[in-house]
Amino acid sequence: MNEQLKLLVNLQDLDLKMLDLEKLKNNIPKEIEQNRENFKSAEDEFKNEESELKEIQKTIRLKEGTLNDETEHLKKTQVKLNEVKTNKEYSAILKEIDSIKERKDQLEEGIIVLLDKVEIAKEKIEKSRGKASQEKKIWEDVVKTKENELKSLEEEIKKNQLEREDLVKKVDPKLLQRYQKLSKHHDKVALAEVKNKSCQGCFITISPQNFNLLTSSENIISCPNCQRILYVRE
Ligand SMILES: [Zn+2]
Repeated sequence: MNEQLKLLVNLQDLDLKMLDLEKLKNNIPKEIEQNRENFKSAEDEFKNEESELKEIQKTIRLKEGTLNDETEHLKKTQVKLNEVKTNKEYSAILKEIDSIKERKDQLEEGIIVLLDKVEIAKEKIEKSRGKASQEKKIWEDVVKTKENELKSLEEEIKKNQLEREDLVKKVDPKLLQRYQKLSKHHDKVALAEVKNKSCQGCFITISPQNFNLLTSSENIISCPNCQRILYVRE
């Protein structure tokens, strides 16, 4: 193979490799973000349960306040019982006392139900807290791994860039220009290998005449269809 063509084949391999490395590199922030979702939703669940608990506790405090008021009310009403003068008044106050007691019972029952809910909520929170911290650890591990991956990708990219700079210096400037134009036009694939006598860039069959030129001469031949520079791997 023509020495210059050999250099171009190497350049093409290097450029495609760099393209893959860049893609991997650019995907890393996305991969980190995707993994963060699990941690974030576990943390959200934990926070939601915590605020639900706070709501229940607030309701309990309100009911306890009302219960205290009713207890005071009951005491005062019971005192009034000693001061009544008529039977009618007496029975009216007894009726009031009964209804206060009924309201107190309802409040107490309500508080007991809510206290059970507090216990259940606390158990749930413990589990969610555990899960959230587990997911956080997983995410932090992912971040660490991905950051290491990124670092080694960047090193490899840099190494390839240096290699490319060296390589490019050896290529004839006119040929390099042709390569770069084709590379831009064909999504980084400026060269096409000829396999089974067909161009692997556009799959057209290469005429026997061109094939002969390609294999027996030092000429650099372009595909008559896609214009890519043709080569045969040795
Ligand atoms: Zn072609």
